[in-house]
Amino acid sequence: MDYIEQRIYGSKPGKTVAIVGCVHGCERIGQALISKLHKCRIEKGILRLILANPKAYKRNKYFLEKNLNASFPGILTGAYEERLAYHLTKDLSDCDIVIDIHSISASSGIDTCITTVMNRENKKVMNMMNIRKILYANPSYIPYARSTLINHVKCGISLEYYTDTGKRKALHRAVRDVYSILGGYKMVKVKKEKNKIKKELFLLFDTLLLPSKNYIPNAALQEGRKIKKNEVVASFGSKKIHAFCDFYPVLLKKKLDTQESTRLCFMAQKSTI
Ligand SMILES: [Zn+2]
Repeated sequence: MDYIEQRIYGSKPGKTVAIVGCVHGCERIGQALISKLHKCRIEKGILRLILANPKAYKRNKYFLEKNLNASFPGILTGAYEERLAYHLTKDLSDCDIVIDIHSISASSGIDTCITTVMNRENKKVMNMMNIRKILYANPSYIPYARSTLINHVKCGISLEYYTDTGKRKALHRAVRDVYSILGGYKMVKVKKEKNKIKKELFLLFDTLLLPSKNYIPNAALQEGRKIKKNEVVASFGSKKIHAFCDFYPVLLKKKLDTQESTRLCFMAQKSTI
């Protein structure tokens, strides 16, 4: 199939960790991270480096026919990305951990880790990293989460890097986080990071979809600031959309992209991990 893979073997048995980049082709950080890890030496286990959608990457597109991260577990005879999802689901089934790399250009400036399950292994992986914001997208509440890559592997997390502060800095943080995980599984030697930051957990309970792409998000909305019930979230001429309850907006878009859905953000409650 069309994805590109490189495997790095350690000399001793250990975990199999996959780093998957460019599930969304225009999120270049995935490819940049993979080429950084390319010469990485590991002591044990297997490191799999996967460029998920090279065709979309080449054309710098989010996807060609369908959003790959909404196509899992995939269809053997389906659209291009559905076929890709089908093969990835099969081929990643023996991985112990799958790290799915994304980037987002938005206002919060906080890198985010997303999980669709909260079990011991997922929590363990998340605790290895010095990443502050955790989003728990339970597929029972968030239909989108059901068809994501990380929801179709043994243990998977997605990492969203904010690129507003500079692509090189974001890449640097991605490399640091991946090394923390590899270090956590003793695949590489890393210095223990001091001053672990306190994590914030957001429980996603709903999706805020706008009626059409004509609607303009309220510029005053900010990731991390609670939206109060009845606050205007978007408008189109004299038509206004009001919040039906208090919530924290997460993965908030400043404007709706042409290739994506009319999702403005996910609605979340704050919690502790
Ligand atoms: Zn993405």
